[in-house]
Amino acid sequence: MVSLGCPKALVDSERILTRLRAEGYAISPDYAGAAAVIVNTCGFLDSARAESLEAIGEALAANGRVIVTGCLGAEPEFITGAHPKVLAVTGPAQFEAVLDAVHRAVPPAPDPFLDLIPPAGVKLTPRHYAYLKIAEGCDHACRFCIIPAMRGPLVSRPAAAVLREAERLVAAGVRELLVISQDTSAYGTDRKGREVRFPVVPLARDLGALGAWVRLHYVYPYPHVRDLVPLMAEGLVLPYLDVPFQHAHPDVLRRMARPAASARTLDEIAAWRAICPELTIRSTFIVGYPGETEAEFAYLLDWLEAAQLDRVGCFRYENVRGARANDLPGHLPEEVKDERWHRFMERAQAISGRRLAGKVGKVLEAIVDRVDDDGAVCRTAADAPEIDGQLFLDSGFEGLAPGDIVAVRVEEAGDYDLWGSLVEAPPRRRQRHTRA
Ligand code: SF4
Repeated sequence: MVSLGCPKALVDSERILTRLRAEGYAISPDYAGAAAVIVNTCGFLDSARAESLEAIGEALAANGRVIVTGCLGAEPEFITGAHPKVLAVTGPAQFEAVLDAVHRAVPPAPDPFLDLIPPAGVKLTPRHYAYLKIAEGCDHACRFCIIPAMRGPLVSRPAAAVLREAERLVAAGVRELLVISQDTSAYGTDRKGREVRFPVVPLARDLGALGAWVRLHYVYPYPHVRDLVPLMAEGLVLPYLDVPFQHAHPDVLRRMARPAASARTLDEIAAWRAICPELTIRSTFIVGYPGETEAEFAYLLDWLEAAQLDRVGCFRYENVRGARANDLPGHLPEEVKDERWHRFMERAQAISGRRLAGKVGKVLEAIVDRVDDDGAVCRTAADAPEIDGQLFLDSGFEGLAPGDIVAVRVEEAGDYDLWGSLVEAPPRRRQRHTRA
């Protein structure tokens, strides 16, 4: 399995592998040992499409028997045009079609003694954290995005199924659940006859009761996010919001056709922080969107200064095949996008550095990700894996293991990372479960 793209695609890969393992298939660490290769593609940006085609080509050259799935699979002719020898092409979240293609390529030889799978299914993340996908698709129509066309409208998983999966993961040793979907705060609003208006709130509360860290990603700044933040103040859910603002200027947001274009985001941020002062806010932005004027960009920089976001990612606008933004007037030269990206990141880095410096001297809870001879690499509640910063322990780390949650005194801060020393040994060791 070659898994490309975002965490949502990673979860799809995990589901496919879980089903295949349940049927008795094994997973090979390299092309040579595999009877076939599944490439789960990303089709979002042109650069991701090129990377997907390259990965398919590499798998064909190294193995020869390749099944393509994922977002780019929504355009089979695009793939077969470049790689006519692929065995099958299936679209995003078409699990049955992928399994059928695998059955055709490598007929199953089930063995009841070998088919046992781990209780948490097959995971591509380390054992102590896991992505939990709560919905698929999106009901919005942002001009730069083709996800609704690729993955369809919002379809939420039943809360009971999400909770069952979360319980299984926690029972198998997962200490941190990373809740994902395209539009997490809209979770459940597609379900008819629901008991509450915004089912994400009771779902987050129930997940929080499981005892693992719960981190919410891709939370749009709808007004009802104010109902989620008290769960963070109560300690049920990590005080962390990943809110993709994308821009701040109302006219740019309108041209983007963002769902939250009219939200008074600075007021919302102030309200969230009033409820939960230790809240960490992460966001992503697009600079150089078609028609973005220097004044609109300067507005974004001022907004960023006022918002004091903790963690920020920024993309230079890029056309996406099939997106409506491609036809907008006023596409900007690459040099302008580049220059704005650098100015934006400089500002964001200074804010991040200042906010991290404010943590020096504090004692924070941290989860251990990795331990080697030189030290332990941890993360605080303010850091999501892969995308945010890290906290390093250079001494006293012996005896720690990935998944331990420890108390650390912060001694030093950089622009993105922290360094500290252990205050307390892990309060409770990650439980190891065995199967009878
Ligand atoms: S909210 Fe907009 S950017 Fe996000 S998935 Fe939906 S259409 Fe795409």
